[in-house]
Amino acid sequence: MPLRETEAVVLRTYRLGEADKIASLFTRQLGRLRAVARGALRPKSRYGGTLEPLSYVRLWIFERENRDLLHLNSVEIIESFFDMQRDYRVQLAAQYLAEVGERLLPEREINERVFRLLLAVLRALKHSNEVNCPLLYFDYWMVRLSGFLPDFEACAGCGKALGEDGGYYTGGSEGLFCHDCRPSGATRVAAATLSMVQTACRQPLDKWLQEKPPVGTREARLFLEELIESHTEKKLISKKMMEEEV
Ligand SMILES: [Zn+2]
Repeated sequence: MPLRETEAVVLRTYRLGEADKIASLFTRQLGRLRAVARGALRPKSRYGGTLEPLSYVRLWIFERENRDLLHLNSVEIIESFFDMQRDYRVQLAAQYLAEVGERLLPEREINERVFRLLLAVLRALKHSNEVNCPLLYFDYWMVRLSGFLPDFEACAGCGKALGEDGGYYTGGSEGLFCHDCRPSGATRVAAATLSMVQTACRQPLDKWLQEKPPVGTREARLFLEELIESHTEKKLISKKMMEEEV
C-alpha cells in the first residue's frame, strides 16, 4: 500500500458517517480524486483546518489497488484561501471554481496547466476586490484547456465571418451563430466583447488585474458559462447563485 505525496487544492468536503469526511481534491500529481479523511469531524482532528474549501495543501495519500476511494494520511497547508471567503461574493466565486473543476476535470488525469490556472485565479480573488475578471479568465481557460472553445470569428452554422454584428448563442449552443443562422431566443455577444476576451485572457492574470475590468466582462462570462453548462449538460448551481449576487 504505497504512500504518495502530492500537492492539491481542496474542492469541497462532505460528511461520511459520524466522524469522517470525504474530500474532493484536485491534486497536482494524481489528478482529481476523492479521498476519505478518517476522524476529520472529531473536535481534535489531526486535519485541523487544512481541509477548508479551496485550501492549497500538501498531502500524503494511501493508494490501494482496485479501490475507488483513497485514504488521506496527513495534510499540511501551503496557502489558505479561507479568510477571503468572508466576502460573500468571493465565497460564491470560490464555490463556482470548485463546481466547474469537479464537472470538467476528468478523474485521475494530471493537468498541470489547469492546476496553475486554479492557483492563479484563487490568488487573484484573494488580492483584488474584483470577482468578474478572475472568473472570466478562469472560464476562458477552462473552456480552452478542456478543448471546447468555439471559433470566435466564424458562424458555427454556415461558416461565415461573424464580423461587426458579433455572435449569437442560446442554451445548449456549443458555438456562435451569425444573425441569419441564430436560433430563436438567442442572446447576442458583441463583436467588441469577443475580441476583448481574446486579448485580455491571453495576458497574465496579475497584469490584467492592475487595470479596470474591461467593458463586456460580464457578457463574456455569461456566454462562456453557458458553454460549460451545454458541454456538461447540467446547470451549475453556483452560477445561478452568483447571478443573484455577483
Ligand atoms: Zn451563419
